[in-house]
Amino acid sequence: MTFLTFRFAPSPNGELHLGHAYSALLNQQLASEVDAHLLLRIEDIDTTRCTPEFEAGIYRDLEWLGVDWEEPVRRQSEHFSAYQTALDRLIAENLVYPAFMSRGDIRAFISDRERRGRDWPRDPDGVPLYPAVDKTLPREERDIRIAQGAPFAWRLDVAAALARIGSDLFWTEFEDTTLSATRSIAARPQDWGDVILARRDIPTSYHLSVVLDDALQGVTHVVRGMDLFQATAVQRLLQELLGLPHPAYFHHRLIFGPDGRKLSKSLKDTGLTALRAAGATPQDIRRMVGL
Ligand code: GLU
Repeated sequence: MTFLTFRFAPSPNGELHLGHAYSALLNQQLASEVDAHLLLRIEDIDTTRCTPEFEAGIYRDLEWLGVDWEEPVRRQSEHFSAYQTALDRLIAENLVYPAFMSRGDIRAFISDRERRGRDWPRDPDGVPLYPAVDKTLPREERDIRIAQGAPFAWRLDVAAALARIGSDLFWTEFEDTTLSATRSIAARPQDWGDVILARRDIPTSYHLSVVLDDALQGVTHVVRGMDLFQATAVQRLLQELLGLPHPAYFHHRLIFGPDGRKLSKSLKDTGLTALRAAGATPQDIRRMVGL
């Protein structure tokens, strides 16, 4: 018998809001309907923005909501060496390259091209793609710059990665609470360009640590917001490159604020702590998110 495993994976860089509540409660509901495990993962690789206070807030808010998760909680900041090992493999296979352009360099490069009348391609979030000029730097030149301490990020060579895979990639999206209505979605990681997989100071990125942890924790069902739908393409590619199993996904509707905009961690009035302080009950929260 195979066990099904769901996970809720918040980042402790702000307070949980109604969108997180919906995601956590939906994970719990779907997991309990199929008698699956529900894990909690703390995605705290960004050690400058994540704080122990926000992490404590996550546990407090989830307990208050009535979400139960299995111990131990995986904290990504305790596993940098595992991410480094995967990164080293991608480096050895020439699937990543050190990218030296700063944000300012990138902006200048792109505005120069745009001034000359060329529309620069953008990723699904509207961010201009990385110009990828470092890809052609001779190896000696790269090594010298690194040895001199030049700042860089490891970027995925998406063209090389797709050539390595050599076939079309798909992911499974399930759509109903019985987990049975599924669609196969064509993954287009190239739409994101050469994404960052690690920085010099942090040997991982959101994409790299998510795919490794989902595999390591035996996650079979990823339930998360629609805002991460397109990102799944990059994660699907990494799973293939690293020989990892791939979960099925359900990207749920987003909860919008009273102004019709996506909730952010700075919108205090939709924060769970503020709502609780104003007298809301867990039942009110469920109603507010439509569960
Ligand atoms: N840590 C991510 C976030 O808080 C979610 C990652 C995921 O569910 O794949 O937005």
